[in-house]
Amino acid sequence: ARDRLGLLLDAYGLDPQQPNANWVDGQFVGGDGDTITLQDPVTNLPLLHYRDAGEAVVTQAIEAAHSAQQEWMALSASERGRRMQAASRGLEGHEESLARLESLIAGKPVRDCRGEVDKVREMFEYYAGWCDKQHGEVVDVPSSHLNYVQRVPYGVVGQITPWNAPMFTCGWQLAPALAAGNAAVLKPSELTPLTSAVLAMLLEHSGRLPAGLINIVNGLGHTTGSALTTHPQIAKLVFVGSPETGRLIAEAGARRLVPSVLELGGKSANIVFNDAALDDAVAGAQAAIFAAAGQSCVAGSRLLLQQDIAEKFCQRLAAAASTIEVGLPGEDETRMGPLQNAAQYQRVRQLIDEAIAEGAELLTGGTRPEGLPDDAAQGNFLVPTVLTKVRPEMAIAQEEVFGPVLVVMTFEDEADAIQLANGTPFGLAGAVWSQDTGKALRVAHQLRAGTVWVNGYKSINVMSPFGGFGDSGYGRSSGLDGLREYTTTRSVWVET
Ligand code: NAD
Repeated sequence: ARDRLGLLLDAYGLDPQQPNANWVDGQFVGGDGDTITLQDPVTNLPLLHYRDAGEAVVTQAIEAAHSAQQEWMALSASERGRRMQAASRGLEGHEESLARLESLIAGKPVRDCRGEVDKVREMFEYYAGWCDKQHGEVVDVPSSHLNYVQRVPYGVVGQITPWNAPMFTCGWQLAPALAAGNAAVLKPSELTPLTSAVLAMLLEHSGRLPAGLINIVNGLGHTTGSALTTHPQIAKLVFVGSPETGRLIAEAGARRLVPSVLELGGKSANIVFNDAALDDAVAGAQAAIFAAAGQSCVAGSRLLLQQDIAEKFCQRLAAAASTIEVGLPGEDETRMGPLQNAAQYQRVRQLIDEAIAEGAELLTGGTRPEGLPDDAAQGNFLVPTVLTKVRPEMAIAQEEVFGPVLVVMTFEDEADAIQLANGTPFGLAGAVWSQDTGKALRVAHQLRAGTVWVNGYKSINVMSPFGGFGDSGYGRSSGLDGLREYTTTRSVWVET
């Protein structure tokens, strides 16, 4: 893995031994802080070293962003759109190398990583179209004034992203920020630093974006992340990650009265009624949790089954789960790779053990897969795992596991299902399966969740707003709502 990673880094002009991991003011720069060592998720052996960016690099990035933003806004809106289109096209031809780079570092199946690059292209294309379609408005005030409202960018925005979908979350937040007229300084997770930096380089070059419009600073949360969230020139914070860190980000923003958007975790419920199309629901339930090895914010981690179909459904689900290919992330046929890091792996195993000690039963899984190469024996692999006899108050039914672990609970009727589904502090997503459309929609409309699917799971599109209720955060990403988060308004009064 180290050799393959070295070749990819070399191709992008990065030192395979210790890459300059930050993209700042139009170039790769090294950090000033301590050395961070990444482990290979497949073997848990050291994979790569780089230096934490630290405060000086963050300051350099913010200053570069400040002047690049003025250059960006000096262009016409349609020119900004054309450049964002060109930036999107610039990723063509790099899909495979970006996907391989991400797969090696994040341990994600390479097929999923290819999908992430496609999404980044789509996001830049979509938001490019918005650049010259953002209008202010005239307000018909009851006086002799002309009053109009302009939409204005914040200036320099600070963005922080997690390790589970580094390229996706990077493109997801950069594209609307730029389309709204901002410059960005983004800090990826310290566990998955490089694809965001390479993406930024490719986007900036191919789109002829002003140097410094996109900056990527890599390092730990309490060093580089904190330098970003507390810097006086950051005018808006957008955070994608866990609720615990989300609270710290919101507090840092509040101290300086800087607004934030928080895209946090979930414990999403998949509700299956006895009149659902069962084949579809079984396929949907397993894809909902086992895609990305459950390391997805919208993972359908709680399966709520109507009592009378529970046994039959579980049998079919267990059979389907055991056919998922768990293997090396770089192989094309692999559907599920390892968990990204050893700490996450230990936490998932511990939650499973505790649930079993509290009375849950293992329907399938809970073990390492067979047939992996010897050097993967210490990797973070776990087969799809389903637990039954779970009670709603158990930790495994309340906390985000962020692994390939599905908990099954049963319900009697609609009211019972809604109560169970809404019975965690989270509110990110959920799904309802029933062939009775009236019932499905009635239930969907009572779920405290930012995204609800009916007879499906996980469809998302850059055109549609995404975000949470409760501990899943606030503010929205994607679509027009996501663009609006990156502007504020100015109301102008003219004496007539
Ligand atoms: P995390 O909260 O541990 O870290 C997220 C980011 O915050 C990282 O870049 C980290 O370095 C940074 N950070 C940590 N402490 C910080 C501090 N004091 N100041 C500034 N930055 C700091 O989350 P994670 O483990 O990387 O990611 C998994 C979580 O992300 C899960 O909860 C998942 O559901 C969530 N997530 C949410 C969405 C969404 O759209 N709602 C999408 C993907 C992931």
